[in-house]
Amino acid sequence: MLLLTKEIESRLKNASLFLLDLDGTVYRGSTLIPGASAFIECLGKRKIGYVFLTNNSSRSAEEYRCTLEKRGIPAAPANVFTSGQATGVYLSHKKPHARIFVAGTIALCRELASYGLEIVNGRSETGPVDFVVAGFDLELTYEKILAACGYIARGVEYVATNPDYVCPVEDGRSIPDCGSICFMIEKATGKKPYVVGKPNPAMIFAVCESMHVPVDRTVIIGDRLYTDIAAGKAAGALTICVLTGESTPADIELSTVKPDVVLESIDSLNRLFRDTL
Ligand SMILES: [Mg+2]
Repeated sequence: MLLLTKEIESRLKNASLFLLDLDGTVYRGSTLIPGASAFIECLGKRKIGYVFLTNNSSRSAEEYRCTLEKRGIPAAPANVFTSGQATGVYLSHKKPHARIFVAGTIALCRELASYGLEIVNGRSETGPVDFVVAGFDLELTYEKILAACGYIARGVEYVATNPDYVCPVEDGRSIPDCGSICFMIEKATGKKPYVVGKPNPAMIFAVCESMHVPVDRTVIIGDRLYTDIAAGKAAGALTICVLTGESTPADIELSTVKPDVVLESIDSLNRLFRDTL
């Protein structure tokens, strides 16, 4: 039986919005984490809002929405916000119609283009480039790394969608993510990117603003201390760490980033809502 302080119990009872990480929290690779679907149903019944907040920029928000629906989780376009979209918002505010080189997937290029940004990848003409964007590039080639490093070395502003070193997939495995790609670029150029995704709280503020929910009535659930929990702490949301992805109890013990609540999995929330809240 999980014991919650009065303050945490009251914040959970009064929550209007749940922000849920995807990889390692709602699913691992193609496998849904048991209880995830039931929890979304529970939020729906209680008229509590939810947004899937993922740092994974390899796919578009629409692809995530379709994947979630196929797995039986209802998701409208407003229920998904990716670090790719957050990067689109950030860059289009910073310089509308900016010209960008993307070390990322075709899906990320399309997502960024939907914010009015001009993608220069593969263009033969040599105009100025305003930003280099690094993402979780499952289609990475040496040519892309070479071009990105060239622009960055020449002083072009450098932005990354997310800092995650690895992405958890099936069978307990993890695969190299955007943070590892950025580490390679850093070794080659000496430059580090401005990171738009979690732990940057901007992603949480953007969602709270669009959903008209104050951040102190928001709960973030994730498996990672240095992204999900750190972002939640920086924003002032209630933070829940689940043990179905990266973080272990030993990691939490050793970390300076302490979640407000630690749960075995998202399924623990179903029990909590049924028995306590
Ligand atoms: Mg995760």
